[in-house]
Amino acid sequence: MGEGEGTTYHMTPDEFRRWGAEAVEWVARYMERVEEFPVLSRSAPGDIRRSLPPHPPDRGEPFDAIFRDLDEVIMPGITHWQSPRFFGYFPANVSGPSILGELLSAGLGVQGMLWSTSPACTELETHVLDWLVELFGLPERFLSSGAGGGVIQDSASSAALCALLAARERATEGASNRRGVDRRLTVYTTSQAHSSIEKAVRVAGLGSEALRLVGVDERYSMRPQDLERALEEDIRSGHLPCLVSATVGTTSSNAIDPIAAIGEVCQRHGVWLHVDSAMSGVAAVCPELRFVNDGLEAADSYCVNPHKWMFVNFDCDAFYVADRAALVGALSILPEYLRNTATESGAVIDYRDWQIPLGRRFRALKLWATVRHYGAEGLRHHVRKHVRMAAQLAEQVAADGDFELVAPVPLNLVCFRHRAGDEVNQRILDRLNSSGELFLTHTRLDGALVLRMSIGAAATEPRHVEEAWNAIRRVAAEVQGG
Ligand SMILES: *Cc1c(COP(=O)(O)O)cnc(C)c1O
Repeated sequence: MGEGEGTTYHMTPDEFRRWGAEAVEWVARYMERVEEFPVLSRSAPGDIRRSLPPHPPDRGEPFDAIFRDLDEVIMPGITHWQSPRFFGYFPANVSGPSILGELLSAGLGVQGMLWSTSPACTELETHVLDWLVELFGLPERFLSSGAGGGVIQDSASSAALCALLAARERATEGASNRRGVDRRLTVYTTSQAHSSIEKAVRVAGLGSEALRLVGVDERYSMRPQDLERALEEDIRSGHLPCLVSATVGTTSSNAIDPIAAIGEVCQRHGVWLHVDSAMSGVAAVCPELRFVNDGLEAADSYCVNPHKWMFVNFDCDAFYVADRAALVGALSILPEYLRNTATESGAVIDYRDWQIPLGRRFRALKLWATVRHYGAEGLRHHVRKHVRMAAQLAEQVAADGDFELVAPVPLNLVCFRHRAGDEVNQRILDRLNSSGELFLTHTRLDGALVLRMSIGAAATEPRHVEEAWNAIRRVAAEVQGG
């Protein structure tokens, strides 16, 4: 037979049905066994690549060969973010309904750049983001029914960049789009803010020197008086402040900037306030934790990641603006080949104008599926459980003579250290993480090495936190014993 004869090369719907069922079975088995794996991958650099063939196949292979390699080649190189003993960085938890939503989105293969390229893709997204305003008790100015609205970004990093571009658009009345970067522009955040803020400043072409790090207090929260002073000095010397990025729940220590007071300062000086609540914003699903929304009425933009602590697969960042005109003004370019009557009628949203790329996936499906599966009640149940486990751990740390808490624990992150100093903490961390028993990460606060335990994996139960705390104390004793 000659090349291609008697085959379309495609996977037939019947083959897809068979391998699809197998893939779902594989994932279900993974969910059941995830606790058994060493949390942190033990791969050394290059291990995975050495196990892969150097050249792509000329002849297509059966799909079971891929399953075989998944188990033998890929799994050893996986760090198990879904393990109940994963306490590193921040949660990136997932769920059955979200995974199925991803599958359905992949199956439809929709490109949602314009309303007209799949009306359901746009309208479901607008609708579910309006739902989240209600679910989290966010200010009504973020609803799509007014001047504002929400959009799904791939990440909080993209949200920060979009906020900066919109803020710049407003501050320069559109001039920066025409003439390029205005050297007078400045941006304000704190040393505790996520690195994505500085990255946005760089990508937007302002340069890191345009970024001002405002002082923080003993709880690592922005000092509004320091912000006011920095703005006044810059304005006096001819700068054009365009954005303040405040954080609710910093990555390092879960510090919460005082948004209401910062908002007043921003309003006095006409500066755009962006609030980055990537991880902690999800807590607002619980009415008793709505302190995370304090002052948000003054925010021009806001972001929260359902892909962190709300059982939605990465990527799904909910980004809101109070006035979409500046955002769309900064990002909309309409070439002839995208012109269509729906866009021209002004009656629809084209989300390509709310983000950096043109193309976009149907990400609202997984968010919709997750919110519908859990309901507000189910989401609250899990957030409360994580917060309770963190509070319990914090109590135990505070009561222990060898360890100390180094930052308040408002939600699900516990920052602590052994009193014996950096070297001991580093050895504790290294030994624990290489044991595979659990995984936690570190930060530095006031120059000192700090251990961080972030509690938010879907499968984490109180016993996992208890076992982790026992392991930490055991390893601390071993490390000090020599
Ligand atoms: C995780 C996090 C980010 C970055 O999130 P991405 O969605 O990965 O870009 C930014 N800010 C805060 C406060 C975060 O917790």
